[in-house]
Amino acid sequence: MKELSYDAVVIGGGAAGMAAALELEAAGRRVAVVEREERLGGILGQCVHNGFGLIEFDEELTGPEFAERFEDRLSARPIEAFLGCTVLELEVEGEAKVVSCVSRERGVMRLRAQAVVLAMGCRERNRGNIRIPGSRPAGVYTAGLAQRLVNVEGYVPGKDVAIIGSGDIGLIMARRMSWIGCNVHAVVEIMPYPSGLTRNIVQCLRDFDIPLYLSHLTTDIYGRDRVEGIEIAPIENGALVMEKAFKIPCDTVLLSVGLVPENELSRKAGVSINPMTNGPWVDSFLMTSVPGVFACGNVLHVHDLVDYVVEESRRAGRFAAEWLAGRRPSRELRVKAGANVRYVAPGRIEPGRDNKLYLRSMIVKNDAVLEVKLDGKPIRSVKKGHVQPSEMITIALGAADLVALAAQPDSTLEISIQ
Ligand SMILES: Cc1cc2nc3c(=O)[nH]c(=O)nc-3n(C[C@H](O)[C@H](O)[C@H](O)COP(=O)(O)OP(=O)(O)OC[C@H]3O[C@@H](n4cnc5c(N)ncnc54)[C@H](O)[C@@H]3O)c2cc1C
Repeated sequence: MKELSYDAVVIGGGAAGMAAALELEAAGRRVAVVEREERLGGILGQCVHNGFGLIEFDEELTGPEFAERFEDRLSARPIEAFLGCTVLELEVEGEAKVVSCVSRERGVMRLRAQAVVLAMGCRERNRGNIRIPGSRPAGVYTAGLAQRLVNVEGYVPGKDVAIIGSGDIGLIMARRMSWIGCNVHAVVEIMPYPSGLTRNIVQCLRDFDIPLYLSHLTTDIYGRDRVEGIEIAPIENGALVMEKAFKIPCDTVLLSVGLVPENELSRKAGVSINPMTNGPWVDSFLMTSVPGVFACGNVLHVHDLVDYVVEESRRAGRFAAEWLAGRRPSRELRVKAGANVRYVAPGRIEPGRDNKLYLRSMIVKNDAVLEVKLDGKPIRSVKKGHVQPSEMITIALGAADLVALAAQPDSTLEISIQ
């Protein structure tokens, strides 16, 4: 079996993995990226719509264009990219980490490194995760799988489509299926508000006159061999009103009911997982509970925009390089999600330097205020025109904001939305 050594190994070659690897290499480190697909880019490769890179490149790019720019940067640097190579296991042997991977060309390899960056992205929740009753006819796909079939493989999965869940992939696919000549009859959402970005509701549903049923539960997917339709019923005052249930005939159902960070490898390696994000707990260095193992991108928490993935992953790459050079966070403040905040990542920050926090709201509200409190005392409040669970909120807390607090030990920073 082939054994190779690097300073750092990055698992996953999507936007997160590429951004982290570039930072590590720029800091003079020997880096390898291991990617199970034959190309770098991850999910970007199947997102042929535009809307990527508005922050990173100040341009509207498609997913593959965005990925290609990063691939070009990567190939211009001495970074080893193992493609078509799946990581099977991450083992921790004292200070050293061993990444076992396999590819058709090279067989099984063991890559040794002091630092590992987890960048495996996320996967879609499926029918089993949301327990929709009914038999199991053909024609039920996750929206991301349908996107891959249409955009990469060149297949049309059906003609008359209903979409369950209003996540961004489902919204994008509502428009995509309309463009290729399908009839999209409905997008059905259990919550009273959409789960996707507002711009996608406008550009993918309203512009195509596709009905969005909010506060509706899918009570049945019917059909024997092939899907023949779905049944949906409204939820009124918290109760399902079956008397108002109705059927929507269709031959294809797409599920867009959430994404889950892909952390099987992390769990097996002993990394502690935050139940609110399903990603690893990380400190101010974006380092997991296993020293020397870092995490970024959708494996850490599900992001809405690739620009945030890149920004966070650059930080992870830089921190991994600093950690390799022997630096450790001097003192950390604990960060807590307060009222109306689902989670804040990372869970710790270092007061002596610039920090960036990412959070998700639990409520939909106009004229909201983001309140930052230190040990119960307000230290910052930021006005937000509109907040909703589908849109990530970021807040920068610079060294200047926190320097006055650096003397206080064991402080907790709490962020809430009012
Ligand atoms: C359908 C869709 C539409 C989107 N639209 C937009 C948009 O319009 N604008 C925008 O800014 N953002 C958009 N986003 C968000 C953004 O593109 C993603 O959040 C981002 O690209 C995720 O990057 P990542 O590297 O974290 O994950 P991924 O891109 O998923 O990369 C993870 C990589 O890890 C690899 N991997 C996983 N496990 C292993 C293993 N065991 N061994 C080896 N390799 C492994 C995978 O093959 C994959 O390539 C969209 C996302 C989706 C899904």
